[in-house]
Amino acid sequence: MQEQVVPKTPKTSSVLGFPIHLLDDYTGWLVNAVAQGKGCHVVTLNAEMTMQAEQNAALAQVIRQAELIIPDGAGVVLYLKVQGKRVQRCPGIELAESLLQQLAKLEERRSVFFYGGAPGVAQTAAELWQKQLPELTISTQHGYISGEEQQAFEQTLKTQLPPLILVGLGVPRQELWIADHRSLCPNAVWIGVGGSFDIWAGVKTRAPGWLRDNHLEWVYRLYQEPWRWRRMLALPKFVWRSLVYWLS
Ligand code: UDP
Repeated sequence: MQEQVVPKTPKTSSVLGFPIHLLDDYTGWLVNAVAQGKGCHVVTLNAEMTMQAEQNAALAQVIRQAELIIPDGAGVVLYLKVQGKRVQRCPGIELAESLLQQLAKLEERRSVFFYGGAPGVAQTAAELWQKQLPELTISTQHGYISGEEQQAFEQTLKTQLPPLILVGLGVPRQELWIADHRSLCPNAVWIGVGGSFDIWAGVKTRAPGWLRDNHLEWVYRLYQEPWRWRRMLALPKFVWRSLVYWLS
């Protein structure tokens, strides 16, 4: 095993009462965690998830118990900046991408599991990554399995013990599922990655860089998936809740 620096406990701040960890190098922290078999659950916090957690006690509890909570969304970053924090946005998909690239450089612990997405999607995403990073071993399971298949899948995880497990079931399903199942692979790094497999497989596309740079990724998502409008109401609600929270 390569010699690694012990990860320092990240500094904690908060967003509407939910913890968030401020680090300069999330990927480096997680590569160390993978190399040392330091099991952890990573939550990628954004305004929409925060608003869901205010209504969903189970999700709120899972967020509070996660070992690493990163500022995934522009709303969360703006909230922290208004509070005078030095913070850089770290979208979950980019964190997962840089983690895969760094993991490929390790001497061992280079296997990864992709769980979630429609049948075939995680498989396509894995094949594309595997071409780019042949050092990695990537196993996959789509996210629409029956109870019986679920049991077989859990057994596979228990046997394979992958050091990194990416779960793309959407919020809050993936966070709750990870919390319920992380004991299957207690030394793994588990990350909820939403629709990342869809993007890697080419089923969906990410917003262009200029929209991302101007905190407008949500506009593109709305354009690509208009049915999301109801979920997107969480964004103005988040702004309103933030104002009320600060004033009180
Ligand atoms: N999904 C899944 N199983 C389910 C429901 C959803 O695998 O039972 C997948 C779906 O195919 C998609 C992802 O979960 O790939 C959700 O993506 P989305 O972009 O909606 O994630 P979010 O915005 O919630 O992070």
